[in-house]
Amino acid sequence: MDISMASLKGGVGKTTSAVHLAAYLQQMGQTILIDSDKNESALTWSGHGKLPFQTCSLEGATKAIRNAEHVVIDTQARPTPQDLKGIAEGCDLLILPATPKALDLDALLKTTEMLDSLSARYKVLLTMVPPHRRRPGTNTPEPHLKERQARKLLDSADIPTFDTSIPSYTAFERCPLLGVTVQNYDDKYSKSAWNCYEKVGEEIISHA
Ligand code: ADP
Repeated sequence: MDISMASLKGGVGKTTSAVHLAAYLQQMGQTILIDSDKNESALTWSGHGKLPFQTCSLEGATKAIRNAEHVVIDTQARPTPQDLKGIAEGCDLLILPATPKALDLDALLKTTEMLDSLSARYKVLLTMVPPHRRRPGTNTPEPHLKERQARKLLDSADIPTFDTSIPSYTAFERCPLLGVTVQNYDDKYSKSAWNCYEKVGEEIISHA
């Protein structure tokens, strides 16, 4: 499966999502993460040699891709409409990470308008949402108002969105510094943090 991650705005969890989804897909088969973002954040992350999959630059991808069952591309931030067209045409699924912040959602809506005009297959992943909390007297954790409002906006615009969202956890900020994914980061939230990407991975596989 070929997955591309794209965003018109930086700092929305594009690289973090690319790394964790590549780790998930590696469990199913040989996966390669291609870092085509000029920041090279994924390459820096993998530089510690602890990620469970191979990471390479776009230039170095030709050979590595031959043996890969799954390819995840961390695309260049802020693509032009022309770039976006090429990205959308070159993958099975384009994932658009976005936080529930108004400015991020605004940039996201611009991206989805462009993609709709290209009839591209894409899905939005809400990231850095406030963690779900149990209300007093209830057992099931519920999404925060910000996430509910973001989902309402996306629903009303008929924008396909993953059911699972990625919470904001410090573990996600720290794990690149150690070169690990969140499931290998020692913290009390790391298990549930990893579990969210597993659920997104399951959604990807079940709709493939
Ligand atoms: P992008 O690739 O869109 O620029 P990054 O994945 O590099 O975004 O994330 C931007 C910043 O936010 C980084 O410092 C990263 O560690 C942090 N971050 C990403 N996802 C989360 C999250 N779910 N919770 C907390 N911090 C996060």
